[in-house]
Amino acid sequence: MNQPPEDPKPSTDVARSGPPFSQLPLSSAALANLTRLGYHAMTPIQAASLPLALAGHDLIAQAKTGSGKTAAFALTLLFNLKLDRSGVQALVLCPTRELADQVATEIRRVARAEENLKVLTLCGGSPIRPQIASLEHGAHIVVGTPGRVMDHLQRDTLRLDALHTLVLDEADRMLDMGFYGDIVTVASQCPVDRQTLLFSATYPEGIARLARQFLRDPKEVKLLDQHAATKIRQRFYEVDEISRLQAVPRLLLHFRPVRTIAFCNTKQQCRDLVELLESEGIVALALHGDLDQRDRDQVLVQFVNKSCSVLVATDVAARGLDIERLEAVVNVDITRDPEVHVHRIGRTGRVDEDGWALSLASPRDMGNVERIEEMQGTKAEWHTLTELVPRGREPLVPPMVTLQILGGRKEKIRAGDVLGALTGEAGFDAKQIGKITVNESATYVAVDRRIGAQAVQKLSAGKVKGKTVRVRLLRPSDSRS
Ligand code: ADP
Ligand code: MG
Repeated sequence: MNQPPEDPKPSTDVARSGPPFSQLPLSSAALANLTRLGYHAMTPIQAASLPLALAGHDLIAQAKTGSGKTAAFALTLLFNLKLDRSGVQALVLCPTRELADQVATEIRRVARAEENLKVLTLCGGSPIRPQIASLEHGAHIVVGTPGRVMDHLQRDTLRLDALHTLVLDEADRMLDMGFYGDIVTVASQCPVDRQTLLFSATYPEGIARLARQFLRDPKEVKLLDQHAATKIRQRFYEVDEISRLQAVPRLLLHFRPVRTIAFCNTKQQCRDLVELLESEGIVALALHGDLDQRDRDQVLVQFVNKSCSVLVATDVAARGLDIERLEAVVNVDITRDPEVHVHRIGRTGRVDEDGWALSLASPRDMGNVERIEEMQGTKAEWHTLTELVPRGREPLVPPMVTLQILGGRKEKIRAGDVLGALTGEAGFDAKQIGKITVNESATYVAVDRRIGAQAVQKLSAGKVKGKTVRVRLLRPSDSRS
């Protein structure tokens, strides 16, 4: 069998015509691996930052979400890494656990040519003991949130004296979340003679302050996207309070987005909306502060891999979420704060595709809408609910379902093993398999909804990496508490 791509996913947001990676001083194994990942050319931020970063400069890189910043610093870390040396050589600080997991995954993908590389994530919300045990076994690269990394530094379970590269990823968001002090503490424990790379989507004063304090003669790379705003198509619908929630399924059946985030101002509104959508046969999951970490993970996995059509969230719960290319954002309630509104609708139409930003406003929301108009410098485009007609007779069903395999990184399961089992012995087509997410002790596999039951059966009867595994269909309601 040919080697399957490890993590099949659409890659529409990347330049196919940028300069080739072969211009960089990378090993042939590293180049071959990039090709295998489908990275045929550098994205603009990679082309601008990699030559500088590989030459050893400190860097301030500013580019929008989805532009390939992770691979830019991952390749730099790996370039300087000496596998036979002990001690943590690179530390990446990220604002949230989800982002840290995504970054660790991307580093592992980019580093696949390196056999014995150990990448460890250290985030809050997970018990600290297993992290300490893993640190004792040694790690080359640590990816973590500032709070937990600090915690390990204070316990002396993490030492940074062998560190070569410090990365501050999504630095602006870390500052938003109040991590300035923690970042300062962590950075001051790193060797002075190191390379520091700072990545950020925006450049507020706090970032300049951080840079002055911790970067040495940094090179600045800024790639700003002037057109971002035009890709979001924004519409306002006038509703009254009684019809507000009922308007949501009407919007969904009219626009038929594959994935939508619906923002509500309160947890209760989230619960009510999920209940209503379910009663209409639409698969929806709530993301709110009361979920434990496992449930939150499962909700996000199912939404990201297209097994759930609507993620219903409060602003607080959605904070730090990094989900690309949503077809639609629905503002079930209009937020009082116009900046929050801009942030919400920024989750749609981010890259080369249009996205819908649909807002429901009752007469008492008009003040909020005016503030949004002022901030955006444009008049709201009003539409009526009566324009909404269900398109097609098909119900709105997510294209995928999620299988849960009991066993993950701890059991040495890799995405390629699962894909291999499904496309090999079980006889499925790689096209029927979606995103494969390997967590510490569970693996989630998106498969075409139509083969869900069959895939569970075949995987249970067969073997993954020579071992029998326990598999079940993850039902959205399993992740609800
Ligand atoms: P950012 O951190 O800038 O928001 P990411 O690093 O998460 O963006 O990258 C966005 C997506 O683009 C990821 O799915 C990544 O795998 C993919 N990607 C990155 N670089 C390339 C490339 N050169 N070619 C193709 N895909 C790429
Ligand atoms: Mg990023």
